[in-house]
Amino acid sequence: MQGVGMTSQRTRERMVQRLMDQGVSNLEVLDVIRNTPRHIFLDEALSHRAYEDSSLPIGFGQTLSQPYIVGRMTEIVLSASGSLDRVLEVGTGSGYQTSILAQLVGQLFSVERIKPLQDKARKRLRDMGLRNVEFSHADGGFGWPSKAPFNAILSAAAPRIVPQELLNQLAPNGVLVIPVGAEEQQLHMVIRDGDSDKFITQILEPVKFVPLLSGITR
Ligand code: SAH
Repeated sequence: MQGVGMTSQRTRERMVQRLMDQGVSNLEVLDVIRNTPRHIFLDEALSHRAYEDSSLPIGFGQTLSQPYIVGRMTEIVLSASGSLDRVLEVGTGSGYQTSILAQLVGQLFSVERIKPLQDKARKRLRDMGLRNVEFSHADGGFGWPSKAPFNAILSAAAPRIVPQELLNQLAPNGVLVIPVGAEEQQLHMVIRDGDSDKFITQILEPVKFVPLLSGITR
């Protein structure tokens, strides 16, 4: 076990170096990625590939996000002005992005539509001792109205257009980071202008995410 741990520490170091080369620059984010095992979010048969910079299958046709995109989106969340007391994640998946965010924000709320994925993620986060996360089995396209407003919202699944519900649930100056589109997707950053109903959108870069689907799976 010790051997495995040592190896993954070194390979994680290399992974962090790659993320820096690709432009991820927030040191807090890089530090959390450096100290978070990624292999525990994969089935054993795939765990040896955990530190490659690629997305990897987690079952149910879903994927663990690529480390670069996790770093990039997390640093956008952290760029939100003001506090990060309450943050919403749409698409828990394996829980890897969840575990990174949980170490950097106050209270994290994470919504997943596929029950078995949620159950596994919940257990992994409990095993890691991360206790500031609440999970919901629901269609995250509607956000999590009873827990709103959120200082930041991160979606790990791509809708064709930004759901109005997610915008509505942003706190004043809150930031939404979300992939948008079908075959061709772009990462969007949307900021609520003060406490108004005006939203400022910036299109950042092409990305490839699984689609945001409606309804839930038991
Ligand atoms: N960041 C995650 C990525 C998971 S892939 C990880 O690193 O593991 C995206 C996830 O979004 C999938 O688990 C998928 O089931 C979920 N998803 C898709 N549409 C959704 C919706 N409407 N509500 C909640 N989760 C959704």
